[in-house]
Amino acid sequence: MKTRSAEILCIGTELLMGDIVNTNAAYIARRLAELGINLYHQSVVGDNPQRLRDSLAIAFSRADTVITTGGLGPTYDDLTKETIAACFGRKLTMHQPSLEALESRFAKSGRPMTENNRKQAMMPEGCTVLKNPNGTAPGCAIEQDGRIAIMLPGPPREMEPMMDHEVMPFLQKFQEYRLVSRNLHFFGIGESALEEKLHALMVSSVNPTVAPYAKTGEVMLRVTARVKELSEADALIAPALEKIKEAAGEFLYGIDVGDLQTALVRALSERGLQVALAESCTGGMTAERLTGVPGASKVFSCGLCCYSNEMKEQLAGVQQDTLLRHGAISEQTAKELAAGVRRISGADIGIGITGNAGPEPSEGKEVGLVYIAADSPWYQQTFTLHAARRDDDARNYIRTVASSHALNLALRACRAYPGKEA
Ligand code: ATP
Ligand code: MG
Repeated sequence: MKTRSAEILCIGTELLMGDIVNTNAAYIARRLAELGINLYHQSVVGDNPQRLRDSLAIAFSRADTVITTGGLGPTYDDLTKETIAACFGRKLTMHQPSLEALESRFAKSGRPMTENNRKQAMMPEGCTVLKNPNGTAPGCAIEQDGRIAIMLPGPPREMEPMMDHEVMPFLQKFQEYRLVSRNLHFFGIGESALEEKLHALMVSSVNPTVAPYAKTGEVMLRVTARVKELSEADALIAPALEKIKEAAGEFLYGIDVGDLQTALVRALSERGLQVALAESCTGGMTAERLTGVPGASKVFSCGLCCYSNEMKEQLAGVQQDTLLRHGAISEQTAKELAAGVRRISGADIGIGITGNAGPEPSEGKEVGLVYIAADSPWYQQTFTLHAARRDDDARNYIRTVASSHALNLALRACRAYPGKEA
């Protein structure tokens, strides 16, 4: 059987009432598009068995695959499996491996396992069980009479990995082609600017396809080739990569690296370098991101969070005169923070960050103005950020983008490293 069309059905009264945003539908839709599966409808239904049955019937009247999210939990309002299994005339039976996985999960956490947790290991007879290493509710897929029903958990941190690692390979089996993707990570260029540079390529590319995905302050392009044999993929993808690098290579910080902090840890490790941070307005956010990457201990020597002027002087050795003449939010202070923390820690690269995350102007300097400096024997650079957002989340946004710029500047310093002098 070939899967020709799918429909997404998200289940949850919270979604229906607008209490939460339906990010699951967007995520699944994008992944289905990559598989080349047609999607014509998405819908949302509350936690109500009759309306769920109705929605399911409508979905199957126009698609051969229906993917649901939500309602796989242990509580009384979690009815998805029972309801859909019954529509297929299947009973729920205890799935031993899932029960064991649940038991060991509870044993490790030290929490008692209740009877309604056991319910989560009850699966429709004859289904394919989709593992959930990030939560208690496994997903499942029922195939019957040319139809496929796939049930995924509601929490995105459980649903997204399950979609990636379980559903994609499952659906792939029904497709004639295989898909191979490369993820290109860009920083310092907005989605629309990148799209403008690559517009012709993006609209004209059929195989591989080129699709943008925006993250906070970053853009990812996914280049996806559709092939019969995996060995054909590189030859298809390479020319597109060349064109992309030609148009926007200066903003490309990595391919298949995940994020800036991972790219930085990798680049530092490869060169045997260490970085140190002196953060003011980001308050340790950059250090936090860096230490989230395995292997950070070898490349990250120290992070100072020097918020007050006194501590900028005492901890990072910023000159009092600099603070008086230029202010804490200044290029000069950023430079001295970077140089100071490098000197104190003995790291190869020092990064200083100082700015105004708002909401009020400070030292007469505008909200969103941040100075970031890199200091090393071979590379000294300052970057001035004017983060323009002024909404409720602006403070967090400014700090996040500032810390991204700091990671990016460190990455540039690292890449400029000429090697150990003889
Ligand atoms: P749980 O075991 O947590 O009960 P579940 O599979 O039963 O999981 P729901 O109870 O429907 O799922 O939803 C759990 C949580 O997952 C919601 O409170 C919400 O935070 C998130 N969630 C559910 N559906 C969506 C969705 N479509 N988009 C984004 N988040 C969602
Ligand atoms: Mg639930």
